[in-house]
This record gives sequence, C-alpha cells and structure tokens, in this order.
Amino acid sequence: MKKYTFRSNLVISSYALVALLLVSCLGEPPASMQVSPIDATKPNQVLRWKMTTTWPPNFPVIGEVAEKYAEWVGELSNGQIQIKVYGGGELVPPLEAFDAVSQGVIEMGCGVSYYWAGKTPAAQFFAAVPFGMNSQQLTSWLEVGGGYELWKKTYAPFNLVPFLGGNTGVQMGGWFNKEINSVEDFKGLKMRLPGIGGKVLEKAGGAAVLVAGSEIYTSLERGVIDATEWIGPYHDYKMGFHKIAKYYYTPGWHETGSQLEFFINKTLYDRLPPHLQAVLEAASKRAQVWVLAEFDKQNGIFLDKLVNEEQVEIRQFSKETMDALRVYTEEAIQEMIGDDPWSKKVYESYKQYQARIAKWSTVTEKAYYNTIQQ
Ligand code: CA
Repeated sequence: MKKYTFRSNLVISSYALVALLLVSCLGEPPASMQVSPIDATKPNQVLRWKMTTTWPPNFPVIGEVAEKYAEWVGELSNGQIQIKVYGGGELVPPLEAFDAVSQGVIEMGCGVSYYWAGKTPAAQFFAAVPFGMNSQQLTSWLEVGGGYELWKKTYAPFNLVPFLGGNTGVQMGGWFNKEINSVEDFKGLKMRLPGIGGKVLEKAGGAAVLVAGSEIYTSLERGVIDATEWIGPYHDYKMGFHKIAKYYYTPGWHETGSQLEFFINKTLYDRLPPHLQAVLEAASKRAQVWVLAEFDKQNGIFLDKLVNEEQVEIRQFSKETMDALRVYTEEAIQEMIGDDPWSKKVYESYKQYQARIAKWSTVTEKAYYNTIQQ
C-alpha cells in the first residue's frame, strides 16, 4: 500500500478555505506553461499534458484514479494523449487547480466541484449535497437526467469542461467521544465538518472547526475539536481515529456520495478532434466505475478491521436527529444559493430528480436491505 503525506493544508470540502484561497490570483502564466497547442495539419500529433490534482500525491483511491485516468487515456488514444499527473502543491497549490486550468497554465485538473463554490455556488450540486442523492442516483442524474449538461454550462464561463471522475459512495458520519442521541447533543460540539454540513452543524448549535487534513488527529487528541468526519473506514483507519475516539457514527448525511471530477481547459478541448474528445469521456466513465468499486472493496475490508480487530462501536444517528438536520440543511442551502438564479435552476433540477428517483429506490433497494439479514 502506498503511503501518502499531506504536503499542503488540503481540507476536504472546506468551503471557507476555498473562498479564502481562491481570492489569490495566479497572475500571468509563463509562456512555457501555456496549454499545448493543437496543430490541425498534424492529425497524429502527440499531446503531452499535465494534470494537477487537489489531493496529496498518491492519495488512496481518489489520487490513484488520476494516475489510472492518464493511463486509460494513453491506451484509448493509442498514445496520442500523454498525461503526467502532479499532486496538489507540486505545480500549483491544490485549491488553485481551477484557476490554473481555466487560464491555460495547466491542461487538466482533478478535484471535487464543491471546492469551487466560491466561484459559482452552483458547483457544489455536482459534488455533495447533505441528504442528497447517493452515488447511483447522482450518476443517473448526471448521465441521463440533464445534470451533466447543467454542469458543463456551469463551468463554461470559466473556460472549463468537466468530466465525471468517480464517486466515494455514502461516507461515514464521523468520530465522536460522546453519544449523539438527539440533535441537542450537537449543541456546543466542536467538530471538523466542512462544507454545507458545517453550516448545518452550526444551525444545530455546534461549531464547525476548520482543520487541515494533516492536523485532524492531533486536534482531536488534544481536544481542540470534539469530533471529526473524514471519509470512510479505509481512509479513516489510516488516520488512526479509532485510537482516540469512542464512537463511529453512520451514515454520512453530509456526504451521501461525493462526486469527483476531472476538468480540462475548454479552449484546448474545443480544438481537439472528435475521437480524442471521445477518449477523454470514455476514460472518465471508466473512472466513475472504478472509484466506487474500489471504495466499496476497501471500505468493506477496513470496516471489518475496525469492528473486529479494533473493537470500534458503530452507532447510527436516530431518525429524529436526521430529521432535524435535514430541516437545517434546506435552510443552509437556501442561504448559500441566495439570489443566484443559476444555482436555483441547478438545485431545482437536482431536487426534482432526487424526489422521483428516491421513490423508486425506496420501493426496491430500501425494501431489499430492510428485509434481508446481512
Ligand atoms: Ca468527508
């Protein structure tokens, strides 16, 4: 298993940090770093691109898929597109990937669209919405429900084209040292819970604390925070949270299937011949399948380790707790999208799709899981 380290203050879904960091400007890119030109007179021209990610180098699953995407694009294009992947901070700071690709400093990027909510609030709906769709439902909205078209329109003003980059599946609700029996138990709780989830926590009387990934363990150990969420058993085990927290709560209502992305400079993309555009899309579909498959595989293995080897107690949030958080979520989203008509349009499409598909999932999948002994 590859080791990974945090080379920067990367915080998964840190809305506030994104807003903070995105105000910094990259300035004029040096000519040597401009995107590779396409020469239409050379149909078999080899294109050498860079991809910058928002993850530390070799980050399990979500960093690995960037390398795999590069490999698949190479194979599918018969070597015509060669992508070299860089971890966050190696070329540009992680949260400047959007600007770097938009401006043509770098050809491609890999991340999660909620990082760019400071650019356009609508971006978050293509990543993770508390009490939102799961990976299966979200893929349906994106693939055949009009979601992807809305995503492309959201990124077009920034000179970017998005591609699906995988999905984490439902995440875990987080690590706590006290029981959460009702929404009242969030009062006064200092928790590392970024994004919209953090705003929901604050509505419930808690404090959402911004903590860099590399500092979560120490902050929890020293009581700077009382609780934290991260991803799921695989990544959480590696962080060692089970050594310093009593209860592992489910489900991750705040990230019900976080969608990853690749994005490419639109000027560059528009100049590509159709077969190479198709290659980029085909590889992204493969990434969408691989990431969820790998998450499910690894989380199954590491959940077993946590429960059977580390004696971690898995707890479930009560229905009353979830109902209360859901009300706060709707309030938080309405505040975040404010008067932005485009965000409202995207959210409306998302909510309508979720309302319909959730009924179908309830009749089939929920009924199935409710009636079988696992
Ligand atoms: Ca998370």
